[in-house]
Amino acid sequence: MASSTTADVVVIGGGITGVAAAYELARAGASVILLEKDRLAAMASGWTLGGVRQSGRDAAELPLALAAVRRWADLAEELGADTGYRRRGNLRLARDAAEVERIRRLVAEQRALGLELEFLPDLASVRAVAPAIGPAVLAASFCPTDGHADPLRAVRAYAGAARRLGADIREGVAVHAIELASGRVRGVATKAGPIAASRVVVAAGMHAPELLAPLGLGLPLVPKVVTVLQTVPLAPCFDPVFGVANADCAGRQELDGRLRVTTGIGDWPHDVGSWSEEMLMPPAGELMRLIARVSDILPVVGQARVARVWGGLIDLTPDGLPVLDAPPHVAGLVVAAGFSGHGFGIAPVSGELAADLALGRRPAHELAPFRLDRFAAGAAGTVGLTLHG
Ligand SMILES: Cc1cc2nc3c(=O)[nH]c(=O)nc-3n(C[C@H](O)[C@H](O)[C@H](O)COP(=O)(O)OP(=O)(O)OC[C@H]3O[C@@H](n4cnc5c(N)ncnc54)[C@H](O)[C@@H]3O)c2cc1C
Repeated sequence: MASSTTADVVVIGGGITGVAAAYELARAGASVILLEKDRLAAMASGWTLGGVRQSGRDAAELPLALAAVRRWADLAEELGADTGYRRRGNLRLARDAAEVERIRRLVAEQRALGLELEFLPDLASVRAVAPAIGPAVLAASFCPTDGHADPLRAVRAYAGAARRLGADIREGVAVHAIELASGRVRGVATKAGPIAASRVVVAAGMHAPELLAPLGLGLPLVPKVVTVLQTVPLAPCFDPVFGVANADCAGRQELDGRLRVTTGIGDWPHDVGSWSEEMLMPPAGELMRLIARVSDILPVVGQARVARVWGGLIDLTPDGLPVLDAPPHVAGLVVAAGFSGHGFGIAPVSGELAADLALGRRPAHELAPFRLDRFAAGAAGTVGLTLHG
C-alpha cells in the first residue's frame, strides 16, 4: 500500500516527546504521521539516564513534573506495554558542608512548593533508604515519589500504542523543511516527497533550531555533552535514582541489574549538524573521573565490569527550561524541544501539551514560561548546572 502523503498533524522526531505527542494526537482522533530521521530513540531519549523526578525542578516546571508522575503510574497499563517505570525515589546527595546547606535549602524551597521531599541529615538516614551508599555522603534529600523508567521500553510503548490508534510512524525519514503558505503551515518536505498537513509539531530535540531558523524563528540551543557508563547486570543493590548537590554525577540501577551512571553536563565544542556516535565517545580521562566520583558514592561501581560507555547531547536553552509553544505568527506550528537534560520524566505531559497546542485545545498547564519568544530579546537569564537524574 502506498504511504499516505497527507495528515492532520505531522510530528517531527521519534524521541519520547514526539511519540508521546503522536499518541495523544491519535487518541484525540487526529490523523498523525511521525517522521524520524534515524530510528526511534536515536538521540537523547536513547542516551538518557531515564530518571522520572519532580525534585530539583524549576518552579515553572514542577507542576508538569507532578502531573507527569501521576500519569506514569498507570501509563504502562494505558499503553498496553511495559515502560519499566518504578517509583523508587530520588536521593540528591551532599558530600561536603556547602552541599549539605544547598540540599537543606532545596528541601525547604521545594516543600514550600508542595513537593513531598525529606531532608536526611546524616549517612545513617541515607543508608536507611539505600544501604549501598558509600561513606563520602553526609546528607541527602529524598523524594519517595520520584523514580525511573526504561527509556527504550517507554518510547516503544508509546509508539506501539500510537500505531494501534492509527498513527503512521516512519523511521529513516528526515524532514528537510517545514513548508508554509501565507504564513500558515502547509506541510513538510522530505527526501521521499512532501507531506501535506496544516499542523506540524517540532519534537526534533537538538535539531529543532535547524528546522525553525528558515521560518525566522530562533531557538538558541547550546549543545552540551554527558558521559554515560553502563555496567553488566549486578544483583539488586540500589533502588532509587541518585544525583548530587552540584550535579556532577547521577545514576540508577536498571531493572536487569545494570548500573547506569552519568557525569554532569560538559561543553560540546562541535557542530551539532555533524555529530556521530564516535565523536560523542568520552575521553578516557572523563571516564576515570566519572568512575572515581561515582565509586565514592556507590562503591559497588568500582568493582563492576563495564558493559558500555557512550556520550549524549543535551539541548540546553539559555534558562534551562523547554519550549512548549505554538508561535503566533506561524499558524499551525508547535514547538516541543529544548528539554535541557530533563525532558524524559515530563514527556507524558509534554506530549499532552504539544497535542493540546496542535489541536487548539486549552492546555492544562500555564505555558507562559515555555514560550519561544522569551529568547527574542536575548537570553532570559542564564542557567548554571542542570540537575538531572
Ligand atoms: C545522558 C543523558 C541523561 C539524561 N537524564 C535524564 C533523566 O534522568 N531524566 C530526564 O527527565 N531527562 C534526562 N535527560 C534528558 C532527556 O533524555 C531528554 O530531555 C529527552 O529524551 C528529550 O526527548 P525529545 O524527544 O525531546 O528529544 P530526542 O530524544 O533528542 O528526539 C529528537 C528526535 O528527533 C529526530 N530528528 C531530529 N531532526 C529531525 C528531522 N529533521 N527529521 C526527522 N527526525 C528528526 C532525532 O533523530 C531524534 O530521534 C538526559 C539526557 C541525556 C543525554
